[in-house]
Amino acid sequence: MKVGFIGVGNMGGPMCRNIVKRSNHQVTVFDLNAAAVKTCTDLGATAAKSIAEVTKGADVVMTSLPMPKDVEAVTLGDNGILATINKGQTYIDLSTNAPSMVKKIGAAMAAKGIAMLDAPVSGGTVGAEAATIAIMVGGDKKVFDDALPVLQSFSANVIHMGELGTGTVAKLVNNMLAFCNAAAAAEGLMLGVTAGLDPKKLIQVVSSSSGNSNAFKSLSERSLSGDFKASFALDLAYKDLHLALELGDELGVPLPQGSSTHNLQRLARGMKLGSSDSSSILRVYETALGR
Ligand code: NAD
Repeated sequence: MKVGFIGVGNMGGPMCRNIVKRSNHQVTVFDLNAAAVKTCTDLGATAAKSIAEVTKGADVVMTSLPMPKDVEAVTLGDNGILATINKGQTYIDLSTNAPSMVKKIGAAMAAKGIAMLDAPVSGGTVGAEAATIAIMVGGDKKVFDDALPVLQSFSANVIHMGELGTGTVAKLVNNMLAFCNAAAAAEGLMLGVTAGLDPKKLIQVVSSSSGNSNAFKSLSERSLSGDFKASFALDLAYKDLHLALELGDELGVPLPQGSSTHNLQRLARGMKLGSSDSSSILRVYETALGR
């Protein structure tokens, strides 16, 4: 198949490179960052100078972009995907988008006869590199089945959730859980360390005990190394949790854990940690405790 890929950053980059490495699909790439594009063209992808060059002749066009407003601009903006794609082609958004934005873009695409899937991913940059990420997909089942050969070229772990938008809802639930777990991990670590425990021994114990979680693992590794360079930026985590809370508001579902974690993220962003890794919420506690 001919695949167009827009947005090859921390997540899109490894996903795109895996399509090139693991399949015979022909891949055309567009990103505002030329260095990011080069990591894909070095492996055999073709660079495009515009969105129109990506959509031209592609069976499937995919995006992996930071914010809902970025996805909106690339899809519905001037000379964007909608303006340049044709009937019979499929659009798949891999970003963590707002459910309302997914519906808005889906409706605009449908009016032109273009099928859309929302297919956010989970598993971080490590999972994206290893092609083990979960891909949670919303949209028409026939369109999903037709797109499977492309999705499976960057992970076998593909789940059809239901109609358009359901992939995004699943992703927001997953990420709210992950961020709440990370906040709990930061609190637990700081309590133990402040009480005088050896952090390495504490991490060893929790890692094989009932308090363990994926979030505890990655946050404790960051805490030992002191390296908070973003593989998943705090600003993006804050956006995801904001979207989950918005959905809770809309549906009348109380989310006290999510709300308190969102406030913790807000404190961290106030400390200018927005472009650091999402695990840098730990720095809020360390700073408050003078560590
Ligand atoms: P990123 O900032 O590393 O990459 C985004 C890329 O999009 C950048 O290379 C940027 O140059 C490009 N871009 C932005 N606007 C563009 C435009 N108008 N046209 C073309 N290119 C444009 O972000 P990321 O971490 O890769 O995240 C991408 C999406 O995946 C986000 O929605 C995020 O929430 C989600 N996500 C991230 C992770 C993670 O661990 N990083 C995990 C799961 C999901």
